[in-house]
Amino acid sequence: MALLFISENDDPSVWTAELAKAIPELEVRVWPACGDAVDIEFALAWNPPPGLLASFPKLRFIQALGMGIDHFLTDPDLPTSVPLARLVDPDMVRQMSAFVVHAVLRFHRQAALYGRHQSARLWHPEAIPDTTSASAGIMGLGMLGADAAAKLDGLGFRVRGWSRRHHAMQNIESFHGPGGFADFMGATQFLVCLLPLNPNTADIINKDTLALLPVGAYVINAARGGHVVEEDLLDALNSGHIAGAALDVFRTEPLPPDHPFWAHPNIHVTPHIAALTNPLTAAPLVAENIRRVAAGQQPDNLVDPKRGY
Ligand code: NAP
Repeated sequence: MALLFISENDDPSVWTAELAKAIPELEVRVWPACGDAVDIEFALAWNPPPGLLASFPKLRFIQALGMGIDHFLTDPDLPTSVPLARLVDPDMVRQMSAFVVHAVLRFHRQAALYGRHQSARLWHPEAIPDTTSASAGIMGLGMLGADAAAKLDGLGFRVRGWSRRHHAMQNIESFHGPGGFADFMGATQFLVCLLPLNPNTADIINKDTLALLPVGAYVINAARGGHVVEEDLLDALNSGHIAGAALDVFRTEPLPPDHPFWAHPNIHVTPHIAALTNPLTAAPLVAENIRRVAAGQQPDNLVDPKRGY
């Protein structure tokens, strides 16, 4: 059994060692050293070059190295008859919730303002921020969004979620589909995007949708850069309609040095680190999926390419 590891972002040595512990009989090859293409039965991949996966005639299973799979679905030659699974690791879910809670609290507890006060040696308590009247709206109530919603609820925020279908979650007000979108946005003070990127969700944060948010709302995008029309977000920030943004993902990554987001006083930039794949926690999950496929079973967390996530 041979698995091809394909990633320019992840360290193959840790993965090779962890997979060898879990499945000693698995031979791990590291792209571009593929060897004979007919040997490759499994691919463990992040952002593979378009067409590469189609070049392995015996490929039985593609395991993504991350929770998002948008970069697979844009490959016109993706072998859609081969099952593709996303990585769903509770460690990444915890990382993402910590990122979201931190981003919301940073704005809610006026961290930037108190930073300026400290620089001026100014001892000036502002009004108490009222958490129970503050609303956080999560776009996408999947593995990541549902956990972030529950954690913000635990802190006392009024939490609402928007998804494709209705979700019944304790204390979370559920909105769904295009029909529920305007009501969802209209009373959302902290907008958090945790949607998958596909043609239905691309550019979803734009001039028209930002205008639905109340004046003084904040935008947190930890999903994909393609969800945000960057010029529209800048205009909304510069007009004061949007008070601040925390952005972890961008249309071009790394964010180019001359991009206006870097120097904007109301934008907090992080380099796509909200939830990183940790091979120590993820390798056992990947190994379990490989074992399942090798035994003729269905892998966990299968992607539906037609649905786009
Ligand atoms: P998931 O479990 O697949 O959940 C996706 C959610 O989005 C679901 O609630 C789904 O609705 C909703 N949705 C999908 N299409 C929709 C549409 N057209 N309209 C309304 N709602 C829609 O995904 P996840 O694991 O939570 O991950 C979300 C995304 O986070 C990933 O795709 C990835 O791009 C991103 N991510 C970023 C980082 C980072 O470090 N920045 C790390 C990991 C993941 P239903 O529930 O009704 O199906």
